[in-house]
Amino acid sequence: MEFKVSDLEREPIDFDLELAPGAVDLGEQAEQQGPLGASGRAEVLHEHRGPREIVADIRLRGHFAGRFQVPCARCVEPVEIPLEADFDLIFRPSAADAEATERSITAQETEIGYYLGDGLLLEDVLREQALLSLPARTLCKPECKGLCPRCGADRNKQPCTCDVGPSDPRWEALAGLRGRIESKASSHKRH
Ligand SMILES: [Zn+2]
Ligand SMILES: [Zn+2]
Repeated sequence: MEFKVSDLEREPIDFDLELAPGAVDLGEQAEQQGPLGASGRAEVLHEHRGPREIVADIRLRGHFAGRFQVPCARCVEPVEIPLEADFDLIFRPSAADAEATERSITAQETEIGYYLGDGLLLEDVLREQALLSLPARTLCKPECKGLCPRCGADRNKQPCTCDVGPSDPRWEALAGLRGRIESKASSHKRH
């Protein structure tokens, strides 16, 4: 769905819609599962920057809710996460700040996005909002054993026969700890 400044200049647009699965393309990081609900209001805000300069910003307020699938950070099995968030965003025409680099940027202004041309795609906004809401690291379960760094086997499904070698620093630390407990050899970490 596109919000055009020319339409919004006439009147604000209220929206309440369901985006089909996959409508919001999150790239490699996540996949939209099922419909994504989005509702809210788009309107124009006029920024008066002097006697003759008026900048038409788009303000987009609303709420989205949907399910997304991301790979487990350890074993890459898909994990489903429900996401839901409110947003209240301001988009300025991309040309408006091009020549105003000397303008001081306040903390509030860093929240401002930009739109290209004459409008804004809701899908683009939702993509960004969904990516911002995704947890930085998702595990299928807290005790996920992950993939073997040697053979790639999913150790949640079956133990592999590889030695747990020092190829992964986490396992190395664990092996070092076990070594210190089992024997009193202190040279373990220096092989
Ligand atoms: Zn996992
Ligand atoms: Zn293995």
